[in-house]
Amino acid sequence: MSQQNYQRILLKLSGEALNGGDKAQVIDFSILDRYALEVKEVVDAGVQVAIVIGGGNIFRGASVEKSGIDRVQGDHMGMLATVINGMAIQSALEKHQIRTRLMSAIKMEQVCEPLIRRRAIRHLEKGRVVIFGAGTGNPYFTTDTTAGLRAIEIEADVVLKGTRVDGVYDKDPEKNADAKKYETLTFDEAISKKLKIMDQTAFTLCMENNLPIVVFDMNKPGNLSKLVSGETVGTRIG
Ligand code: UDP
Repeated sequence: MSQQNYQRILLKLSGEALNGGDKAQVIDFSILDRYALEVKEVVDAGVQVAIVIGGGNIFRGASVEKSGIDRVQGDHMGMLATVINGMAIQSALEKHQIRTRLMSAIKMEQVCEPLIRRRAIRHLEKGRVVIFGAGTGNPYFTTDTTAGLRAIEIEADVVLKGTRVDGVYDKDPEKNADAKKYETLTFDEAISKKLKIMDQTAFTLCMENNLPIVVFDMNKPGNLSKLVSGETVGTRIG
């Protein structure tokens, strides 16, 4: 039995972070490997882990509208991009002997399993890391919304949003030296202070379903493990 603070987590990783800030490359495999080791620590501690990964390093639907590709087509391309990233993280995890299943909200049976909620839960119970690919399967949504939605569906304890900043600040910490970090916030405080935690749809979904969100720095080794064992890391909203 795990002694961790959270038993089942939904980890949201941004696609954009995978290229390490270098637009010339799609995926920096050393970043993926680091993420895999972070995940391994918590899996080995008995925590059930589901992952939603974005696709921003490959394709964003809204960014190509001007080029004549319509939004729905672009969003489908973006969703396929998340499957590519999902396959990459799956391989990185398996390299470290972590058992995984990649489930896609758009059927592609030669590549991965179709998304079936009960089956996803069963995988988690068996200790497999479940990677949810292809977003919600619908255009006009984001992978942040996917993270909230899947977390609610699998009854995760929390959404952990791994970013390159170590939490939520009152102003942009990369531009303001005096920016103040919040350790905890209620949903109402986040709204009244106009803090941008996730896009509005994702945020509302989490709030209406009492699903806490933790924003934390995924690039700091050991952070994920500390977080699930109850240490104060990042900012907790909820
Ligand atoms: N997308 C979508 N529906 C979803 C999730 C994602 O249409 O449910 C598309 C959308 O075009 C988005 C792209 O997939 O721009 C990549 O996802 P996102 O921008 O959320 O990735 P991230 O910013 O996390 O890298």
